Amino acid sequence: MQTLLPTSTAGSLPKPSWLARPETLWSPWKLQDDELYEGKRDALLLSLREQRQAGIDIVSDGEQTRQHFVTTFIEHLSGVDFQQKKTVRIRNRYDASVPTVLSEVARTKPVFVDDAKFLRQQTKQPIKWALPGPMTMIDTLYDAHYKSREKLAWEFASILNQEAKELEAAGVDIIQFDEPAYNVFFDEVNDWGIAALERAIEGLKCQTCVHICYGYGIKANTAWKKTLGSEWRQYEAIFPKLQRSNIDMVSLECQNSRVPMELIGLIRGKKVMVGAIDVATNAIETPKEVADTLRKALQFVDADKLYPCTNCGMAPLSKNIANAKLSALHLGAEIIREELRNS
Ligand SMILES: [Zn+2]
Repeated sequence: MQTLLPTSTAGSLPKPSWLARPETLWSPWKLQDDELYEGKRDALLLSLREQRQAGIDIVSDGEQTRQHFVTTFIEHLSGVDFQQKKTVRIRNRYDASVPTVLSEVARTKPVFVDDAKFLRQQTKQPIKWALPGPMTMIDTLYDAHYKSREKLAWEFASILNQEAKELEAAGVDIIQFDEPAYNVFFDEVNDWGIAALERAIEGLKCQTCVHICYGYGIKANTAWKKTLGSEWRQYEAIFPKLQRSNIDMVSLECQNSRVPMELIGLIRGKKVMVGAIDVATNAIETPKEVADTLRKALQFVDADKLYPCTNCGMAPLSKNIANAKLSALHLGAEIIREELRNS
């Protein structure tokens, strides 16, 4: 990756209105069977075009092929029963009806590998692919079999490793693991969460990333953020261990979040995807606002390790707003590139 400050997105992008209800998180598909298969691919092409038009350097599928960032992956595994739903508390924050683990979990077939190959065929730009992280996966399930969060996380980590190796072979440059649960279960993260993530990336030669965040702009998350006080220091509890891990990159929420920027100093040496776009508001950042956030981050991360990014996924936003935010990200990064060239 030659570009200085290469831009990317943290996760999902809006889906076309003919594929899923717009501005709705986890909206059910509007198409079925062959039409759905074709629709997802068309949506991926559209999303890729929009990312390119906005000037995004590291592109993704915009998560057009999945309904939910965790459950779509789990649907492809054996051992999990989607008919038997149980209500659990997600990240100690909101209730959700989730599938049940009834027997040993296994990956009987590749999950996203064909989609990744398809994306690879469309572009020469670096591509990033997101997978759920082991800890966030166990937090989105009811476990009636292993009866141990750690054990189940370990099983998922080895399944994720199988998938990640095939994604790498398909030409994915960066594999990202989404771990919003890292912001909640600090003790577990330090005890076994980071070890499980390292198991998931074992043997990979491509770049690996962990995305930690304060979640989509849904009500439960916005309400939770209000309880966190004036400074959000959640990252502080886990960064020292993360700094010593094998993971290459860390993706963080920095725009409009109350995370003190100096916490990034705790992961010195890692590449940092700095969220400079707030996904929880329709207000479109100006390039100058993006640049301000990046400039602050540059105090704690070297320029060659700074990757301007969005705070989180943008699936719940309208396409117009999401695209305008992506343009702002690109233009904001341009401002800093120019400053670095002249300094
Ligand atoms: Zn996120």
